[in-house]
Amino acid sequence: MQTFNYVKATNIDKALTGLGSGKFIAGGTTLVDLMKLDVERPSTLVDINVLALDKIEKLPDGGLRIGALVRNSDLAWNADVQKSYAVLSQALLSGASPQLRNMATTGGNLMQRTRCAYFREPSAGTPGGYGCNKRTPGTGCAAMDGFNRTHAILGTSDHCIATHPSDMCVAMAALEAVIHVEGPKGKRTIAFADFHKLPGDTPQVENALEPGELITYVDLPKPVEGARSVYLKLRDRASYEFALASAAVVSKVEGGHIRYVRVALGGVGTKPWRSHEAEAALNGKPVHAATFRAAAEAALAAAKPRSDNAFKVELAKRCLTRTLKLATA
Ligand SMILES: Cc1cc2nc3c(=O)[nH]c(=O)nc-3n(C[C@H](O)[C@H](O)[C@H](O)COP(=O)(O)OP(=O)(O)OC[C@H]3O[C@@H](n4cnc5c(N)ncnc54)[C@H](O)[C@@H]3O)c2cc1C
Ligand code: SF4
Repeated sequence: MQTFNYVKATNIDKALTGLGSGKFIAGGTTLVDLMKLDVERPSTLVDINVLALDKIEKLPDGGLRIGALVRNSDLAWNADVQKSYAVLSQALLSGASPQLRNMATTGGNLMQRTRCAYFREPSAGTPGGYGCNKRTPGTGCAAMDGFNRTHAILGTSDHCIATHPSDMCVAMAALEAVIHVEGPKGKRTIAFADFHKLPGDTPQVENALEPGELITYVDLPKPVEGARSVYLKLRDRASYEFALASAAVVSKVEGGHIRYVRVALGGVGTKPWRSHEAEAALNGKPVHAATFRAAAEAALAAAKPRSDNAFKVELAKRCLTRTLKLATA
């Protein structure tokens, strides 16, 4: 780990002006690890923990505003979230461990980076180290023909196949959250679908934040009346493990037919994976095992597995089929 300056920001203006080419630090559960591994080498850390961004508030239009510093535990156990956005509570509680969730923040979770083992290798992207285009563009991708059991099968490119690791983000994709940011050029909002970027030929660009921008809030739209929502996560062990495949479904059934549905997948995409293909296969259709399977086939039709992760195709289909059954029961 290299030496760095540490600054405590007491308000948003001070956080923005103090940043320079440094990094904000919230819970530190990802950033400190990556600094120890030499993946992140910020010259300055701006501690944002005392900013007044730790509230969960109801919005006048019936939605919910989540401050960027709300801890994952507090969000998961919030009564409004449990009642009206169950998929988000379930996703958060399936992630990491209780201790980590007590520290991890909403903003930090949005910004967490891939768990690709090559990416996290200290020497990756340096001469003599593993090739990693995300660490150093143009050095190749060691995972492509290497150990890629946990890697993505949707949204991959010839330059990177790293999986997006977040559970929370999969639920937020299905809930169509909106991200509020503030930076040197002022305030703006980013639709959840536009926040995380596909790797394409620039895998080092992971999200839509511009230099110096701070995430301030995440807004959830008003809950759909009569809808149910479920998150299901499949992994190598029952806790403290990232998803091999997961699904978030928000759905509303009337007269035995699906009248509203939002579907997102985790553990299989290079970003939290909203599946418009699955939604199209479900909308207006009867609640039936054949409908669910057709949606799962549609969701994974574009999957591109590598040598070790072909099992994820069927795993993700079964995960989504099961989640749809639970969400429409
Ligand atoms: C062992 C382990 C297991 C885990 N398992 C899971 C899991 O199963 N599922 C899952 O979803 N996650 C898992 N995680 C990841 C965990 O959820 C993240 O580490 C956590 O959410 C990050 O939040 P933080 O506040 O600690 O972020 P930090 O480490 O403080 O920051 C992370 C990044 O976000 C940036 N940042 C933070 N806040 C802001 C802001 N407001 N605006 C702009 N940038 C900001 C920082 O600059 C940094 O780049 C695991 C982590 C560990 C260490
Ligand atoms: S999958 Fe992406 S993060 Fe992993 S080694 Fe390849 S380029 Fe790097």
